[in-house]
Amino acid sequence: MRDVVIIGAGAIGLLTARELSAEGLDVTLIERGACAGESSWAGGGIVSPLYPWRYSDAVTALASQAQHSYPALCASLLEETGIDPEFEPCGLLMLEAEDAAEAMHWARRSRRSMQKAEREVIYEREPRLSDDFSRGLWMPDVANVRNPRLCRALQQSLTRLPQVDVLEHTQVEGFERDGDRIQAVQLRGPDGPARIAAGQVVVCAGAWSGTLLRELSLELPVEPVKGQMLLYEMEAPQLRCMILHKGRYLIPRRGGQLLVGSTLEHQGFDKQPSNSALQSLRESAARMLPMLADLPVKQQWAGLRPGAPGGVPFIGALPGFQNLFVNAGHYRNGLVLAPASARLLADLVIGRAASLDPAPYAPARRIQSDTPG
Ligand SMILES: Cc1cc2nc3c(=O)[nH]c(=O)nc-3n(C[C@H](O)[C@H](O)[C@H](O)COP(=O)(O)OP(=O)(O)OC[C@H]3O[C@@H](n4cnc5c(N)ncnc54)[C@H](O)[C@@H]3O)c2cc1C
Repeated sequence: MRDVVIIGAGAIGLLTARELSAEGLDVTLIERGACAGESSWAGGGIVSPLYPWRYSDAVTALASQAQHSYPALCASLLEETGIDPEFEPCGLLMLEAEDAAEAMHWARRSRRSMQKAEREVIYEREPRLSDDFSRGLWMPDVANVRNPRLCRALQQSLTRLPQVDVLEHTQVEGFERDGDRIQAVQLRGPDGPARIAAGQVVVCAGAWSGTLLRELSLELPVEPVKGQMLLYEMEAPQLRCMILHKGRYLIPRRGGQLLVGSTLEHQGFDKQPSNSALQSLRESAARMLPMLADLPVKQQWAGLRPGAPGGVPFIGALPGFQNLFVNAGHYRNGLVLAPASARLLADLVIGRAASLDPAPYAPARRIQSDTPG
């Protein structure tokens, strides 16, 4: 029997496995496809919520803790694996935000660095932007990370640990249950059906978490929200910082790649990139950085964010069960929130003092269950 089985190896499952295995627990991480092939690969990797003042204190609390831990996490992963997650604290310039007064109030209250940027400051910082912008907000500490590299490094660091098994191309299909305990998970892998007995089970299945938990008659309100992105490739970086305007953003990567994001679409589990999104994202990108109007798009993709009400993830025990936990529903912020979210989940599984008040994230706040308690 394994101490813990984790279902889903996106950023959340990988970091949850890292936290729990660091406490000496035997962990099996089960992933239907390849590790981090879904939303955690598709995301932009901004290590901050967009317009952070528009989120609840529950999201800010997780984000603050995670943002502090990111530099050390990335440095450790580089040392452990040789893979650099490219943590870049290049800052975020938000153009023409209508609610700048609320933003400044939030920044003072949450002790975040934020300054008003007038026209001269905007163009001194980013001379290649289009000429249209007269005011902005500058958050110098906001970073971005190469999320596919971050996840690859996490996977590689886990596979080196004797107490961790990572099973890819293996789908969890159901649960064996005895009263209020999960005895085992039922799975189908390359060698056919199998079962793994587990002391504790953690669902980190992203946008699919709600579907999986319906097997146990639990209704967790986590819905897929499609997001599409574009990639441009240039010979050298054309921006020094990230730019956000009317919900669309530009993320410069080292070496000249530039990401444009993103759409917000409620279309179930459809992940097909569309022409309409391509056009709309291209227009948004060129409105910010006119040189993009003449450049070909190198790549377009879509991912499914795990949407939960208010963007507040579900972290903790599921009602009606002694040994079943969830860590899912991080919506637009799963990469930034992942380290703090994984730590809190591990606190609750292990029974150690919680690093944050778990109440705002408790699944019992929203879950509907047909199961007797
Ligand atoms: C376009 C876009 C841009 C984004 N930009 C950002 C950003 O800049 N910053 C930020 O913080 N966040 C961003 N996000 C959000 C972020 O990507 C997600 O919140 C985060 O990746 C969620 O991680 P996860 O591990 O919960 O889900 P996922 O990465 O989707 O992982 C869930 C995993 O569970 C597996 N799984 C599901 N069901 C089963 C099963 N039955 N058995 C086994 N495995 C299963 C899936 O295959 C998947 O690999 C963005 C998302 C998108 C789509």
